[in-house]
Amino acid sequence: MLHLARRPLLIAHLAPDGDAIGSLLATGLILHKMGKDPILACQDRIPATFRFLPNARLVTQDGSDGDIDVVVSLDSSDPTRMGDVYDAGRFSELPLLVIDHHITNVEFGSINWVESKACATAEMIYYLAQALDTPLDPDLATCILTGMVTDTRGFRTSNTTPRAMHIASALMAAGAQLNEITERTLNSRSYKLIQLWAHVLDTVQLRGDIISANNTIAMRYDLDNITRADGVVSFILGAHEAKIAVVFTELPEGKIECSFRARPGNDVASVAFALGGGGHPLAAGCTVEGALDDVRGQVFALLEQSATAR
Ligand code: 5GP
Ligand code: MN
Repeated sequence: MLHLARRPLLIAHLAPDGDAIGSLLATGLILHKMGKDPILACQDRIPATFRFLPNARLVTQDGSDGDIDVVVSLDSSDPTRMGDVYDAGRFSELPLLVIDHHITNVEFGSINWVESKACATAEMIYYLAQALDTPLDPDLATCILTGMVTDTRGFRTSNTTPRAMHIASALMAAGAQLNEITERTLNSRSYKLIQLWAHVLDTVQLRGDIISANNTIAMRYDLDNITRADGVVSFILGAHEAKIAVVFTELPEGKIECSFRARPGNDVASVAFALGGGGHPLAAGCTVEGALDDVRGQVFALLEQSATAR
């Protein structure tokens, strides 16, 4: 499918993270080397943290430009994750290749390549480069390693396999700087984000083995355009008493984004999926319409139902 394409549209998911962006840029580099002219798209802007990546400035928020002949969805487990850049009316006749590593993937493509054992979609892009005989160079290696580093929080999560470590080593040998990627993506944040953390952590509460916190619009009044308190949910899961962590983020359009983390042996993907989202057993998310307290109530009811499994 990719061999035949001339102008592929590559789409990273809404509120893109390091894996979505790394996979998008890496796939763009691979296709470029094959003589294609890919469009790289994402509905939301690339966060400042990831703008150091090669070609990050080429990512457009509008996928409608150009004579597209194939669409590739990266790191999205369902079609809504692609947002507005996937124009269903216009693209319905085109082949859609889904590349993803979420266990909750609903296989919405004409071809679905889903590997839930891959630590990141970027790990799959490494396999793609190999399959297409694309040699690694420092730029490609950097984009792939960024996706792997961010989705494993620096090779610390349970999806960090020996194979992932082996690939990371090959990427470093090809010129990716592990230390620089880690510093930029995991160890550096704006002062405003730290201020938001302070507000969010002020609301933290433990109920049974579920720890939660709120991120409200009022908290962000003076904090520029920051919305998500990235990192808080993983941090609060560190409480000895907690098995599950959830952060509720109030979005301006009357919706609540729920971000879940769990200790091994639990499954938050099924709860997120039941609420229209998805993810992995130990890291998942969903966006639910309603007021903060109502959504909290719904989420706690589902988490407590699933508690019988804990
Ligand atoms: P995070 O909490 O870091 O935003 O997301 C954790 C995991 O859940 C990621 O793999 C992410 O792709 C997935 N996820 C987060 N929000 C949503 C959502 O609204 N829908 C779906 N399908 N997956 C989500
Ligand atoms: Mn991912």
